[in-house]
Amino acid sequence: MSEYEKPAPRINPDNARFWESAHEGTLRLPRCGDCRAWHWPPGPVCPDCFSGRIDWEEAQGHGTVSTWTVVHKDWFPAFRAEIPYAVAQIELAEGVRVTASIVECPAETLRVGLPVEVVFDRVTESLTLPRFRPRRP
Ligand code: ZN
Repeated sequence: MSEYEKPAPRINPDNARFWESAHEGTLRLPRCGDCRAWHWPPGPVCPDCFSGRIDWEEAQGHGTVSTWTVVHKDWFPAFRAEIPYAVAQIELAEGVRVTASIVECPAETLRVGLPVEVVFDRVTESLTLPRFRPRRP
């Protein structure tokens, strides 16, 4: 059975490429083949110019925290063992924002503007959010 026959929660045809690349250890995001704008969430057309030419290109994998919260309920089953856990909006270097889990970061050090980098070491079938940690020097 392929991964497409048993999709994990929240994986759909529009974002399947994102998760496929995460399993391979790269962060790929949709980028317009015409106006070259990065965009997220993914969709069938570019929200800037409505082009249907979408390329999935490798992103730099780092950005800054733009908003964050600490979650005390198990909204995401994959993180049940880690309650409470931190969820944040990350403004990526490419200019798009993704929702992510923040790991390796005590809640008291989490702040808006914190530089973070993507982590791929625990990407599993049940993972529903990409993981980021404080950026290492
Ligand atoms: Zn475009």
